[in-house]
Amino acid sequence: MEQVIVIGAGPCGLSAALELKKNGINPLILEKGCIVNSIYGFPTYMRFFSTPELLEIGEVPFLVSGEKPTRQDALNYYREVACRQGLRIQSGVKVEGVKKEEKGFVLETVNRKGEKESFFSEKVVLATGYYDNPNWLGVPGEKLEKVSHYYKEAHPYQGMKVAVIGGKNSAVEAAMELERAGAQVSWIYRGETYSPSIKSWVLPLFESVINKEKIAAYWRTQVKAIEENQIILEQDGKEFAIENNYVLALTGYHPNHELLQSIGVEINNETGEPIYNQETMETSVPGLFVAGVIAAGNNANVIFIENGRFHGSLIAEAIKNPS
Ligand code: FAD
Ligand code: NAP
Repeated sequence: MEQVIVIGAGPCGLSAALELKKNGINPLILEKGCIVNSIYGFPTYMRFFSTPELLEIGEVPFLVSGEKPTRQDALNYYREVACRQGLRIQSGVKVEGVKKEEKGFVLETVNRKGEKESFFSEKVVLATGYYDNPNWLGVPGEKLEKVSHYYKEAHPYQGMKVAVIGGKNSAVEAAMELERAGAQVSWIYRGETYSPSIKSWVLPLFESVINKEKIAAYWRTQVKAIEENQIILEQDGKEFAIENNYVLALTGYHPNHELLQSIGVEINNETGEPIYNQETMETSVPGLFVAGVIAAGNNANVIFIENGRFHGSLIAEAIKNPS
């Protein structure tokens, strides 16, 4: 029987494990992919918006040569912190179900080889993030191979007609990179002005490529359907088609609360947030805690590494000194 199992080795799950370790508890972390699997999946050449000290966990300094860390800097940092602090991580182990029992929890898992195993733990910290759950468009053709809700890099799209959907930072950064690599980019946004969420240093660059018509901008436009060689759009009540090879629907992500609900955690109907104690991060199921973005509701972007990394100290304190 483990004392604590943390599900998810993202920055917030790792932070929770480090805080528990400082308090004399050595938790087991179960991770379905690799350490910081979500960051591993981020655009290859991205640079974080946060400065490095705001991404630190376990009070381990994060030093980079520039102002902001790259994805590669973050992979190196979190991997080294996890290894050097001796965190117990089983990678490639997906938690498929959690059941509450009298003395704790039973976790049903499956590994990369498809082998199933059960783990037992007195307490569980759920830190599964949101990156596995894109905001679906819900239109016909969304499951075609040419459609992705993730962007890695521009190189393969040279000479291709690429539709980028979404009006915030992921969409805007991807559209610019694609244009620079020689893709024919159509930017499709449901809004009618630039989103105030676009970072102030990114906006002038994006405005410039739009004004110079290097990217075709479709404002007030929704995608109605995706087909092999075209997409159907609707703008101001009129439907029309544009030729298309690839669709990058960068429409954001949301936490999946199904696992929490299956254990009995209630969801606030208005906010979409799981019910938990803000001072301890313990949910309405005793012994079950949330850390990081999984604690967010309909507005998933209110929790990010900068603030989610502090959930761990609240959890460690609550487990060490139960009230
Ligand atoms: P995640 O990092 O998503 O980690 C969750 C982990 O749980 C993953 O490793 C996943 O594989 C694992 N997991 C999921 N389900 C299971 C399961 N069933 N069993 C086992 N393991 C499981 N935030 C900032 O503060 N600053 C930034 O500059 C910044 N830049 C960003 C750039 C991009 C492109 C994006 C998309 C996000 C950015 N964010 C930034 C947000 C930040 O990345 C997330 O808030 C952060 O990753 C959340 O951490 P987490 O530990 O809660 O979840
Ligand atoms: P996001 O901020 O959630 O933006 C999603 C965009 O998609 C919005 O413009 C939204 O429209 C649109 N959208 C959502 N659902 C839609 C639908 N069904 N149909 C059409 N459009 C839809 O997602 P994101 O840009 O991927 O950013 C996610 C997180 O990553 C944020 O925290 C962001 O700060 C971070 N990020 C960081 C970096 C970096 O550090 N370099 C880069 C990119 C992103 P509305 O505008 O109408 O809401």
